[in-house]
Amino acid sequence: MDTIVLQDLKNIVSPERVIYKEPLSKHTTFKIGGPADYFVITKKVEETAAVIQYCNQRNLPILMIGNGSNLLISDAGLRGVVVKQEDNTKEFIVTTCEEGYLVTGGAGMNLSAFAMKIANESLTGFEFAAGIPGSLGGAVYMNAGAYGGEIKDCIRSARVLSKEGDILNLSREELELSYRSSMIQKKGYYVIDATFLFQKGEKEEILSKIEELNRARKEKQPLEYPSAGSTFKRPEGYFAGKLIMDAGLRGYRVGGAMVSEKHCGFVINTGDATAKDVLQLIDDIRRIVKEKFGVTLEPEVRLIGEKAMES
Ligand SMILES: Cc1cc2nc3c(=O)[nH]c(=O)nc-3n(C[C@H](O)[C@H](O)[C@H](O)COP(=O)(O)OP(=O)(O)OC[C@H]3O[C@@H](n4cnc5c(N)ncnc54)[C@H](O)[C@@H]3O)c2cc1C
Repeated sequence: MDTIVLQDLKNIVSPERVIYKEPLSKHTTFKIGGPADYFVITKKVEETAAVIQYCNQRNLPILMIGNGSNLLISDAGLRGVVVKQEDNTKEFIVTTCEEGYLVTGGAGMNLSAFAMKIANESLTGFEFAAGIPGSLGGAVYMNAGAYGGEIKDCIRSARVLSKEGDILNLSREELELSYRSSMIQKKGYYVIDATFLFQKGEKEEILSKIEELNRARKEKQPLEYPSAGSTFKRPEGYFAGKLIMDAGLRGYRVGGAMVSEKHCGFVINTGDATAKDVLQLIDDIRRIVKEKFGVTLEPEVRLIGEKAMES
């Protein structure tokens, strides 16, 4: 342990919000991941900026996480600093403009909570995201999407922090959002909040749409098991889940990791899966699907940490 780094981080935020060797399995929906050297919770944008600046000056690697719902973190954990923003989770601002209603939310806010607040304002356009178990920041970073909608369709701008800790306001165009990709990924920015454009709708209709989509998720997805959602991106012209099923891999296991029997596009943790198990399973799936159908599957899940990065 570097006691100077630990003390400095405690001075920047507050002592109880810096944890040494925090198991990241506690912060991922896969329930997998070894310890982070330093796990820091920030509550204000200024704190987040100061932590980023400090890490940058000291060459300490940083991983910002949201709800950990798209992460596979190595069993060895992560060296450096993991930052989770809880600073702005309550931020929710509605204003009007010529084109409709602008809604701003903090990066740490749950997408489902954000979607419900929008619905309660009788605003339509975010129903698609209500069942995605991520944070707003993670959703912008990933350009999350479901049921025909994407963050790209409704976002107007996002405020991000650069590695130097400067705040930049990026327009929708500057964010360069495309299928599960954004300029934020390429530049290594950190999202602090985002603003969306919505229209007035019928509250009852909006709420019933959300309910309908959540029901569909429950029926089709193995939500009863830890996972990180769809393991692979959708290959052009195919569905990853169907390819995996047709390759005869339904229920295929490596250790505690298994191809879901309910939805073959999901790798699930049946209880005691390690990152190594999941990585081996991912490799096997990719190899077999490539052999049988000539299609290369690309992971959608972010593979993070020493071992994971090698795959
Ligand atoms: C059951 C289940 C269903 C899912 N369904 C869908 C779906 O329908 N559609 C879909 O698109 N995804 C889906 N996902 C995947 C996941 O929920 C999304 O990718 C989500 O947007 C990730 O958000 P997060 O806050 O959990 O990000 P994390 O998993 O914490 O992080 C993902 C990436 O974003 C980065 N990141 C997180 N927050 C920030 C920030 N503030 N600034 C900069 N970078 C940041 C992280 O460093 C990491 O690289 C599903 C996952 C599960 C478990």
